[in-house]
Amino acid sequence: MGRQFFVGGNFKMNGSIKSITEIIENLNKAKLDENVEVVIAPPSLYLLLAREHLRKGIEIAAQNVFDKPNGAFTGEISAQQLKESGITWTLIGHSERRVILQEDDSFVASKTKAAVDGGLGVILCCGESLEQREAGKTIEVVTAQLKAVADKVKDWSKIVIAYEPIWAIGTGKVATTEQAQEVHAAIREWLKKEVSSDAAEKTRIIYGGSVSEKNSAELAKQADIDGFLVGGASLKPAFVDIINSKS
Ligand code: PEP
Repeated sequence: MGRQFFVGGNFKMNGSIKSITEIIENLNKAKLDENVEVVIAPPSLYLLLAREHLRKGIEIAAQNVFDKPNGAFTGEISAQQLKESGITWTLIGHSERRVILQEDDSFVASKTKAAVDGGLGVILCCGESLEQREAGKTIEVVTAQLKAVADKVKDWSKIVIAYEPIWAIGTGKVATTEQAQEVHAAIREWLKKEVSSDAAEKTRIIYGGSVSEKNSAELAKQADIDGFLVGGASLKPAFVDIINSKS
């Protein structure tokens, strides 16, 4: 059985009640490829608004989760709280959190374990900086980020890996289809060696970094690109074209 194409929309810290309601209404009336799994990640303040208004069949992700179930952790939200509220996914390890908020591989791994154990799907982000790419360290960096997770998490069935080269995020500078496919294939090979053949075969590896309706169809043709994590373009009507880029 093939891997189901997966498209996530990361709204980041963008939107208002009005604009997020409009995005949801747009998605609710759009004709979306039924074979694609679609998940949107609004800011946490709007998760319940989204859950209330979004049509069935589109899931919702938090943009972050904490690694403890409850307690004195001001400002944080747990997997259990998300699950109870009908939020079935979370992003973890986005480069904006790794870089700006200095989340390290070990913390990303703890959060992934907490989310998986709490029954959430995880969009686990990884990716290299421009400096690391130019130093020829892309695969080394990405697999080290994934290894930290593999050390703590054995069940990868609820994880979607988002390969997001940092130099391509929000820059308009998309990776070439060859650059993306090369890293995705290396990640799949790594899964085979370090996790299991089953995980390598079944885990969706999606690409993120300046995906638009103009480049998505070409990227979607690559053997190891199983979907997209879309930032800026997920706030626009063209998100629907990206979702439908396989059809
Ligand atoms: C992202 O935030 O995950 C992302 C890929 O952003 P953008 O599509 O805007 O580059």
